[in-house]
Amino acid sequence: MTLTPGSTTHRRTLRWQAARVLAVRDETPRARTFRLALPQPRRHLAGQHFVLRLTAPDGYTASRSYSVASAPDDSGEIELTVEKLDGGEVSEFLHEVVVPGDDLEVRGPIGGFFAWSGDTPALLVGGGSGVVPLMAMLRQARRDGHPDLVRLAVSARSPADLYYADELPGPDTSVLYTRSAPPGSRRPVGRLVVDDLVPLVRGGEDVYVCGTAGFADTATALLVEAGVPVGKIRVERFGPSG
Ligand SMILES: Cc1cc2nc3c(=O)[nH]c(=O)nc-3n(C[C@H](O)[C@H](O)[C@H](O)COP(=O)(O)OP(=O)(O)OC[C@H]3O[C@@H](n4cnc5c(N)ncnc54)[C@H](O)[C@@H]3O)c2cc1C
Repeated sequence: MTLTPGSTTHRRTLRWQAARVLAVRDETPRARTFRLALPQPRRHLAGQHFVLRLTAPDGYTASRSYSVASAPDDSGEIELTVEKLDGGEVSEFLHEVVVPGDDLEVRGPIGGFFAWSGDTPALLVGGGSGVVPLMAMLRQARRDGHPDLVRLAVSARSPADLYYADELPGPDTSVLYTRSAPPGSRRPVGRLVVDDLVPLVRGGEDVYVCGTAGFADTATALLVEAGVPVGKIRVERFGPSG
């Protein structure tokens, strides 16, 4: 099947819009960020996502959700970071075909439960591409001069797999490597454990967990073990979506 970026038809009722790809940059060998200009901008909340739709010449469509990585602002532009999945219908197309100047059909922003207002304490726990919506929260907190509001723990296989590697590290973030770590790292490599989370829990904060279903379930159980009330935990699972 051949897909083309963005049909030019604009379905106002569904609020699809043809966003122009302004820039593309690699975050890791398997993750790429697309900066889009929205003809009909609507300010998003950190944590929200857009649905992106590809349309083939025969009319076949494929839609997937992608979280906004950029902080909310009034620029009319958003950034989406997409992990390339082998055999992935939409993510492979975005990685292998889409270039600046293309148009992509998107609809959004969508999602209220996983959105962060930007002014309350939050603990963010992400695995792999699950860091994307959490990065929007971190970026907002830092930009607004409230880095103290958020703490981010992110699980990555290796330094090469860390998204936003030039920007993410700081006193408000912990990177937990599962396969290989930079020389001199004090934490032994390995999956997320409760001791990684206990020092990050302050009490009373909302907790945002994002990643694969397996990562999200594990992290949620560990957070409860660390003393976080289950009602304070919001979970976004990245997986097959339509
Ligand atoms: C609310 C929401 C926000 C999301 N935000 C992002 C984001 O910011 N960045 C991002 O890269 N993805 C994100 N996703 C996942 C994204 O929507 C797609 O599922 C993903 O890009 C795979 O689509 P595909 O067409 O390439 O693969 P498909 O053709 O749908 O699937 C290919 C194979 O990969 C499996 N698979 C599908 N999705 C995943 C996954 N996420 N992890 C592992 N295996 C998978 C399928 O079961 C299948 O075996 C989000 C999902 C949701 C629900």
